[in-house]
Amino acid sequence: MSERVAVVTGASAGIGAATARGLAAAGYRVIAAARRLERLEALAAEIGGEPCRLDVTDPASVAELTAGLDRLDLLVNNAGGALGLDPVEQSDDERWRVMWETNVLGLMRMTRALLPALRAAGNGHVINVGSVSGFEIYTGGAGYTSVKHAARAVTQTLRLELLGEPIRITEINPGLVATEFALVRFGGDEERAAATYRGMTPLTGDDVAECIVWAAGRPPHVNIDEIVVRPRDQASVAHIHRRPGG
Ligand code: NAP
Repeated sequence: MSERVAVVTGASAGIGAATARGLAAAGYRVIAAARRLERLEALAAEIGGEPCRLDVTDPASVAELTAGLDRLDLLVNNAGGALGLDPVEQSDDERWRVMWETNVLGLMRMTRALLPALRAAGNGHVINVGSVSGFEIYTGGAGYTSVKHAARAVTQTLRLELLGEPIRITEINPGLVATEFALVRFGGDEERAAATYRGMTPLTGDDVAECIVWAAGRPPHVNIDEIVVRPRDQASVAHIHRRPGG
């Protein structure tokens, strides 16, 4: 069998970088895609993959990646994140626009563009990285929870629309993961970002990547609809066990 090919979006950091490593170790040729090319080049050199500059909010960038593909077995829609923690009354239009463009429209654009290649592969698979914020809510989180709720609806709709086709659809929904997520959310404020994980043990990018690689590795007739994976210290987005002095 010829080499299986995976595209991982948001592969320059966190869950995406760990997933690219995990999929390469599982035998995939990985196309590691994101905006920060230098990071992707280092990662690709390490895992023997291919770096690809991609901005999922830019249709031309998505088209360029698509045109360069000769085969595709697995698409991991991972690019995304949150901006701010603002109450609805103080919502910032631009932050919300970027969150919707990246987490929802980006996922839609990538999926729409790559479905023909996944179909042609014979056994395609789309794995979307959602979040527990796709079915839970918290104060100040409406910008992010609304996009992850929307992305979840897109994922579930896709599974209905592709019924009967040889394409699997999976959603991976993590709780708190220690990545650059909080740093990006709080505009580079390291202290505020660190407070997100204070006194508790978050998941690592590798923990989530293992779920993705496992779901991808099931036989083609087995569809893992979703995996919810949280730290033991987190019972819901709003219920976190923090050890004093941690
Ligand atoms: P991260 O370390 O900040 O990584 C985010 C990745 O997305 C980066 O590689 C970034 O790369 C990429 N990205 C952002 N905007 C992009 C764009 N317009 N085009 C292409 N790539 C873009 O955060 P992470 O935690 O690994 O996040 C990965 C996914 O997990 C996200 O969808 C996030 O919502 C989800 N998630 C995270 C957590 C958590 O607690 N960390 C929990 C649940 C779900 P560039 O900046 O180089 O483009």
